[in-house]
Amino acid sequence: KYHEQLVELKGNIRVLCRVKPVLKEDQHDEGQMVVVTTDPNNESAVTVLHKGKSRTFELDKVFHPQATQEEVFQEIEPLVTSCIDGYHVCIFAYGQTGSGKTYTMEGTAENPGINQRALKHLFSEIEDRKDMWTYSVTVSSVEIYNEVLRDLLSKDGEKLDIKINPDGTGQLHVPGLRVIDVKSFQHIKKILAKARRNRVTFGTQMNHHSSRSHALLTVTVLGTDLTTGTKTSGKLNLVDLAGSERVWKSGAEGERLKEAQNINRSLLALGDVIQALRGRQTHVPFRNSRLTYLLQDSLGKGNKTAMVVQISSLERNVEETMCSLKFAQRVC
Ligand code: ADP
Ligand code: MG
Repeated sequence: KYHEQLVELKGNIRVLCRVKPVLKEDQHDEGQMVVVTTDPNNESAVTVLHKGKSRTFELDKVFHPQATQEEVFQEIEPLVTSCIDGYHVCIFAYGQTGSGKTYTMEGTAENPGINQRALKHLFSEIEDRKDMWTYSVTVSSVEIYNEVLRDLLSKDGEKLDIKINPDGTGQLHVPGLRVIDVKSFQHIKKILAKARRNRVTFGTQMNHHSSRSHALLTVTVLGTDLTTGTKTSGKLNLVDLAGSERVWKSGAEGERLKEAQNINRSLLALGDVIQALRGRQTHVPFRNSRLTYLLQDSLGKGNKTAMVVQISSLERNVEETMCSLKFAQRVC
């Protein structure tokens, strides 16, 4: 019984690693030696050469630099399907700025990432089940910057608060959050484009804004069995996390320091929450950051999480790469 429980918990958190390919624009200055290698015979190992020593990390799955968006999504697809069955699912992209988080989640017009592929998959599954079930799908999208929540689907980035429902269930709600009913995959593409534009425009004062904020896309899927009337309520949270680099080490001051501390605190809180859930601890520290607080109904036991840890393979990023892999191992 105990063993079963462990297996189930492990199955509910998958830690994946994606190694970014070396692009032309990455090849300009020093420190461009490749120090990260993947193993064609072992899909779950990644090796880093650091200070003359080679260290191998074992995760659930490692994507080599040439892995396609489709290959990455194949690993995520079962979790997306399970949210139609009523699970709450979180998918995170973690890593230093420039390591490919946004590429993995949003992707490009030619090579869409997890967000678009997940929604496409959702709508095609719903279509396949339409003789037995009927579903309604809604989306909302927020950004968390410096522990302040903003609505990415509003016109001017309205600030939002997280409140506890007055109904006594202890559930959270976010008054004023725009929640949009989505009818089709075409419709969702427009909504995703709007959130993306807003993430850029709300941060115009600072060009580093988008790398310093977490972006969340939340999809809810409510199902009704057409014959029995049974209901399911699933949720999919797609999260492009703020860059994990330790900027306070480079002598950041004032606003930059506060920003760095907030990011550090929320990423640590996320690691703590995941670790607590894995360790069957009774106290799970959800309240230590807006991010974990907002996601608490999806990170709890019985839900499913995947974390894609993005790393660079270049020597100049090796310190951050080691940190990211240690983080991965801690939650793994
Ligand atoms: P982050 O969001 O972590 O700061 P980005 O996703 O913006 O990083 O990636 C930095 C740059 O590298 C972008 O131009 C992106 O398109 C490119 N890039 C990242 N990963 C890949 C990949 N697997 N294949 C091709 N280009 C990539
Ligand atoms: Mg990004």
